Amino acid sequence: MKKQMKIGSQDNINKIVLLNVIKEYAPISRTEIARITGLSGASVTKFVNDLIKMGLVKENGWESSKGGRRPVLLKLVPESRFAIGVDLGAANLRVVVVNLEAKIITKITKKTRGDEGKEKVFKRMIAAIYEAIDTSKVDKSKIKGIGIGISGIIDHKRGICLFCPNIRGWENVPVKKLLEEEFKIKVSVDDSARTMALAEHWCGLAQRIENFIFVNIGIGVGSGIFTNGAIYRGSRGTAGELGHTTIDENGPRCMCGNHGCLETLVSGPAITRRAREALEEGVVSLISKMVDGDLTKITPEIIAEAARKGDKLAFNIMEKTGEYLGIGIANAINLFNPELVIIGGCVSRISDLFLDTLRRAVKIRALHTASTSVDIKISELGDTTAALGAAILILKDVFDPTASVRK
Ligand SMILES: [Zn+2]
Repeated sequence: MKKQMKIGSQDNINKIVLLNVIKEYAPISRTEIARITGLSGASVTKFVNDLIKMGLVKENGWESSKGGRRPVLLKLVPESRFAIGVDLGAANLRVVVVNLEAKIITKITKKTRGDEGKEKVFKRMIAAIYEAIDTSKVDKSKIKGIGIGISGIIDHKRGICLFCPNIRGWENVPVKKLLEEEFKIKVSVDDSARTMALAEHWCGLAQRIENFIFVNIGIGVGSGIFTNGAIYRGSRGTAGELGHTTIDENGPRCMCGNHGCLETLVSGPAITRRAREALEEGVVSLISKMVDGDLTKITPEIIAEAARKGDKLAFNIMEKTGEYLGIGIANAINLFNPELVIIGGCVSRISDLFLDTLRRAVKIRALHTASTSVDIKISELGDTTAALGAAILILKDVFDPTASVRK
């Protein structure tokens, strides 16, 4: 069956095109908008007036004079629309309230405590959303929706979390339906690696970049793939499971049932497991001293610290992490030919110890044309990336001429 596109009238499309130009180039004059869009001055004036009436755009000062009348400049009204973003992570539950310019105005962090089971986690999430709304003090009627990023297998269209490895019993949860019943506003659910990619596309390193891959390395490994400026989901919505591509056929067993998935080799738990196993086999290392002999206390940060102090085992673990990651990323580069690969997630904070090795591995393994035209960078957005991107799931409808809800 052919999919029917929800497109508004031509006027509506032009209006949204203008809104995007103002978002991108503000402060900008009507003359400049006409030049960029190719629309007539009269049309620009009409559509700008509509956008001002809708409260989305305002006049904001004058352009510096080049002689003659100084043109009035336009910009978005940041406080005209708001969105809520939730990152339901393995360790932390983060909720942000953002304005139309995707600026975070309120941020709340709780522990997820996934071992307490799905009901408690769900209640905690709802309470955190209410707390964020109250703290932000924004007019509730201006909140356009709630975006949720969950690390797991997500049916984005129906808003169902099919599986979440970090929360006990969290299977086939109709997150969208339940939250829409609770809050009576639009809810959109996606995999958190994709919401992180979306945040990079709007506010981070991937602005104006159409083809890029965001790789999230934390407790698990996921990726968000952008092709031609849009998120690539695949036929059933599971595209981007870079963490479950096989790197070593004889490698450790993965929670997905396979052996040697990338996740079993480079995730936070995988890095600590490699250190623990080596120490149990009697390898001498600074790491044992740093955790007072308690191997359960090993973290990727401790291994990184030992590597910086010249510890051989720690150094080798970091090198190997870079190599494995390089293999995984080289495969992704060969498949998608991105312009940029961004590495984020908590393991990226120690990436200075493996980034050179990773880049070398990519250069050796990816096809020459693809590997020489790709940048590999570390995310700079910080720990609210996934929540910010989740809010953008909602915000992006305001700027999308094919979206049905705009008011
Ligand atoms: Zn796997």
